[in-house]
Amino acid sequence: MTISPLPLEFDFSLRQHNTFGIDAKAHAYLPVTSVETLHALRSDVQTAALPRLVLGGGSNLVLTQDFPGLVLHMRSRGREIIGEDDDAIYVRAAAGENWHGLVQWTLEQGLGGLENLSLIPGSVGASPIQNIGAYGVELQERFHALTAIDMESGEILALDRAACAFAYRDSIFKHGLRDRAVVLDVTFALPKRWQPNLRYADVAQELDARKLSQPGARDISDAVIAIRTRKLPDPAAIGNAGSFFKNPLVSEQQRNALLEQYPQLVNYAQPDGSYKLAAGWLIDQCGWKGKNLGAAGVYEKQALVLVNRGAATGQDVVRLAQAVQADVMGKFGVALEPEPIFV
Ligand SMILES: Cc1cc2nc3c(=O)[nH]c(=O)nc-3n(C[C@H](O)[C@H](O)[C@H](O)COP(=O)(O)OP(=O)(O)OC[C@H]3O[C@@H](n4cnc5c(N)ncnc54)[C@H](O)[C@@H]3O)c2cc1C
Repeated sequence: MTISPLPLEFDFSLRQHNTFGIDAKAHAYLPVTSVETLHALRSDVQTAALPRLVLGGGSNLVLTQDFPGLVLHMRSRGREIIGEDDDAIYVRAAAGENWHGLVQWTLEQGLGGLENLSLIPGSVGASPIQNIGAYGVELQERFHALTAIDMESGEILALDRAACAFAYRDSIFKHGLRDRAVVLDVTFALPKRWQPNLRYADVAQELDARKLSQPGARDISDAVIAIRTRKLPDPAAIGNAGSFFKNPLVSEQQRNALLEQYPQLVNYAQPDGSYKLAAGWLIDQCGWKGKNLGAAGVYEKQALVLVNRGAATGQDVVRLAQAVQADVMGKFGVALEPEPIFV
């Protein structure tokens, strides 16, 4: 048998590496600190036939079983200001950097733009995968470009915003480049003429309560951190993957029909004429808030979050998700699509 020159570990527990805290194992595990490791991997005979999973912070994953392949854990580090023009200052960060750490670092440099996205768990490299968003801002609004390696051809790809095909919790990495591209670093364009983004009522209210009528980027970050800490379970204490379902989009006709039956329906008009419904409200109306199924449950403070009540397996989470989806479909005729990736 050929021994791989790569520092592989086998039968590796992923429990500490997924925020649901699911106790699943990877057949093989490789920490990745540089692109050279990925180039070497492409010619490694021992691992060539194994399925691969790129792992960041494991905060958007449900491990439904032991992973029979190779986990590539992105651990690269580095963040720097790389340039500026009339409109923006450009900051590049390595895929393995912690997202919230990057946000805080940009604020320390006096750069605003990412503050509404404070405290989202996970890595920089995963941020474009689902075009992370929170409190009125989506990643794509601050994204400039990224580099990735195409693991099939070995080519280094330079992708701008258009090439990433961002949409709500979506990008090309979930479609054409799925299971192919490993993001190496991401460059952000942080606006020189910074304006506070207070589109989200919660943030405006929190700032009012703090008597901040002219908030700076740091104030907004602090407000977002306070709101998130109140509303969302800390994965270190209660395993979870944040919002478990996307907010579903429905036609105007379906929204009107639902409104007639449910005048309290929480819905938001979209630029394309469709309506976004609040998935958490739909789940709450089905009576799931605070309920458990096996060792998995629906968080008592926010029905959109599924949680690990202790020793939940990935299958417990899948069963609960399916039960919630079936009830929402039965009551409202609306399909809920999970946000995390099932592995
Ligand atoms: C408490 C909590 C709150 C959250 N709040 C939000 C929120 O407000 N908004 C939001 O959008 N999300 C939220 N999330 C979800 C999650 O934090 C984000 O999706 C985050 O970007 C995932 O990063 P990660 O490094 O943990 O990715 P992982 O879970 O490790 O991976 C997610 C996916 O990205 C792929 N991937 C990871 N890194 C790379 C890479 N370098 N190259 C290619 N593919 C890669 C993986 O293969 C996988 O398919 C929340 C999660 C939790 C637990």
